[in-house]
Amino acid sequence: MSSLYSTTAIILSRRDFRETDRWYTALTPEFGKIEFVARGGHKSLAKLTPHLEMISEVELLLVRGRQYQIVAGTERRRAFFGLHERLSQLTLARSALHLVDSATKPLESDSVLYELLEQWLEFLCCTESISNERAGFLLGSFTLKLMDVCGYRPELRLCVSCHRSIEQNSYLWHALRGGVVCESCTRTNQQAWFSARTISDEALKLVRFALHEPFSEQMRPRLESEHLESFHEVLESFIISHFPIIPAVSLRTACSI
Ligand SMILES: [Zn+2]
Repeated sequence: MSSLYSTTAIILSRRDFRETDRWYTALTPEFGKIEFVARGGHKSLAKLTPHLEMISEVELLLVRGRQYQIVAGTERRRAFFGLHERLSQLTLARSALHLVDSATKPLESDSVLYELLEQWLEFLCCTESISNERAGFLLGSFTLKLMDVCGYRPELRLCVSCHRSIEQNSYLWHALRGGVVCESCTRTNQQAWFSARTISDEALKLVRFALHEPFSEQMRPRLESEHLESFHEVLESFIISHFPIIPAVSLRTACSI
């Protein structure tokens, strides 16, 4: 394998590294998450980093070194104009980049995840005003889709115990078992299901919608506070039980601007 290669990427995170260098993580369609260093201390850093500091899709030229990869060139492919002037959109974009960074390990290739992140950024660019409630719901939708891509999809139609279709108003939510459980199962073995909690039909519909429908549709559902509250409780309990790598409490607070 040649030590020099190029890839398309979306930068996920950046931090200072040693005295004059910068450390980056980025998501790529071919290699999954990658990490690389931009060398400082001379002119090149100033030339390279403007593209790496904004939320954008870039073409990277990388050199595989003995210890880490070093960026030798960058070119901006897409700037996602419109993100940087609007606080809600920028917060949602940054939160999603952070979630993807937390949820992935380097070099686990996943083109579906790259597409998801691309769609999210494109969606935010063409969205006008977003209320705090909508922002929380949107980030919930992104998180559900992210968890689905990472192999954690909640069961929202069949009872996780007897595998029969659930019926209206006669089921509970069990975070640890990862889905809905019908009332008759919980009655048969109360001890096994004691931690199941109620979830309204409306809240369950929101979870289904957020998981299955594209981002462009997520502006449509009416968000009544009691159902939205329940939506977040379900999502947070699911995250805590299956994907604690994502700080669940940060989803809603990230959106209260
Ligand atoms: Zn059942």
